[in-house]
Amino acid sequence: DLPTTPFTTPARTARGAAGTLGTVRNLGILAHVDAGKTTLTERILYAAGATHKRGEVHDGTTVTDFDPQERDRGITIFAAAVGCDWQGHRLNLIDTPGHIDFADEVERSLRVLDGAVAVFDAVAGVEPQSESVWRQADRHGVPRIAFVNKLDRAGADLDAAVASIRARLHPAPLVVQLPIGHEEGFTGVVDLVAMRALVWSGAEGAGEAEQRPVPPELAEEAGRRRRLLEEAVAELHPGAFEEFCTQGRLAAGTLTAALRDLTRSGDGVVVLCGSAYRNRGVEPLLDAVVAYLPSPGDVPPVRGTFDGAQQERPADPAAPLAALAFKVTATATGRLTFVRIYSGTLRKGDTVLDTGRGRTERVARILRVQADRHIEVPQAAAGDIVALVGIKGARAGATLCAPHAPLVLEPPVAADPVVSVA
Ligand code: GDP
Repeated sequence: DLPTTPFTTPARTARGAAGTLGTVRNLGILAHVDAGKTTLTERILYAAGATHKRGEVHDGTTVTDFDPQERDRGITIFAAAVGCDWQGHRLNLIDTPGHIDFADEVERSLRVLDGAVAVFDAVAGVEPQSESVWRQADRHGVPRIAFVNKLDRAGADLDAAVASIRARLHPAPLVVQLPIGHEEGFTGVVDLVAMRALVWSGAEGAGEAEQRPVPPELAEEAGRRRRLLEEAVAELHPGAFEEFCTQGRLAAGTLTAALRDLTRSGDGVVVLCGSAYRNRGVEPLLDAVVAYLPSPGDVPPVRGTFDGAQQERPADPAAPLAALAFKVTATATGRLTFVRIYSGTLRKGDTVLDTGRGRTERVARILRVQADRHIEVPQAAAGDIVALVGIKGARAGATLCAPHAPLVLEPPVAADPVVSVA
């Protein structure tokens, strides 16, 4: 009995992730420079209530671009992790550089993601750099949702952008929205899963979302596209195929579950659209992140080695600590070491082993980065992404672990295909 309105009810996870793990999403926003990643990140933080003042890229007040050099150069050089809450879920956004010169840093951020939103420009479609980042994400087995941005721009064309995804990137695009209006007149989308319209009203960027029935003039087109979506999903997903054959259609619940499975197995890519700049399409994107992308409990245990022996660490708060430092930055707060905790629990004051250097370090403070604020927490556990104060020598890429259970983490392997319809 899956929800029939998938974009308002948190989806259940295929493997029934334990405890709070299931409500965490560690995701990256992957994009070609200029596709709108910074703007989208800002709008996400705004939609999730994490920031009250909307940052604008052009006035240098954005929250994710911490580094002044980065603001000056107008490109996102340094990855930063930032958190917010959406529908009872914690979203940790790991910013990945879109510039080709920072491929190593992209690789490192991809290691700590469980899923990603790939942003495309609705005018340009797939660009060379979006293609290379996409391939990197493939290598790391990162499940993705595609967001075709800038639908308000002159020349924006969702169908053409989807055609370029189909032609140039591997998994089949599964388009779950039909835009309402073109270019300047882009005001909403028909959600093809729930078969209802979402319309954004108000002045530019104000973006209040309102649910409405599908506009009569779009009913036929929406019906046709829903059918295409069902056919594409049935072709890829055995459970959906069976229902499609016996019922002649797919119920919204089946469609949601199948889209989730296909996203997580990497066999399909859900495509949504909008305009980050005008704040249109952000809420349904966040709903899709929660519904389709995996939680830390949905991905396989991380692997590591020590003294030549392979080890696995489950995403279990009670297991020995295993964390990966993926970013070290100097800020007003001091040296911050961003870590992804894969296994175990890290408490303030703990001593951890930097296995590569063979040195122990003491964790003075643990911070959650909530938009532009750092919130000190007494502990953090498997699945979390936090910043540590007090780590003096560990570099990005270092494994930090419990001194009694040493290991060096390997890049996480691709998720197993999960094919099930509840
Ligand atoms: P990034 O390089 O991917 O981080 O891209 P930015 O977020 O900095 O955006 C690049 C430019 O595109 C900026 O001038 C934004 O104002 C503009 N932009 C971003 N999103 C949209 C959108 O939805 N519509 C339009 N028309 N412009 C946008």
